[in-house]
Amino acid sequence: MRERDELDTDLCVVCGEEVDLEDARIFFRSASVVACFECARKFGGVYDPVTEKWKAPPRLPPSHVRRHEKDV
Ligand SMILES: [Zn+2]
Repeated sequence: MRERDELDTDLCVVCGEEVDLEDARIFFRSASVVACFECARKFGGVYDPVTEKWKAPPRLPPSHVRRHEKDV
């Protein structure tokens, strides 16, 4: 199924929620592996709202990450 805004969104590898790729709070591990703000924080990520960068990257569950990296 294709949606009009498909280029601007992706799915969080952890919870499967659609995330807005233009949201600075989204954590990018790679082009195909992104995590929403909530999941990134849940797995240990520390976001700095001042610099709008992740001070500490989240440790995403390897099983989730591998599954998505294989798809590419
Ligand atoms: Zn998520």
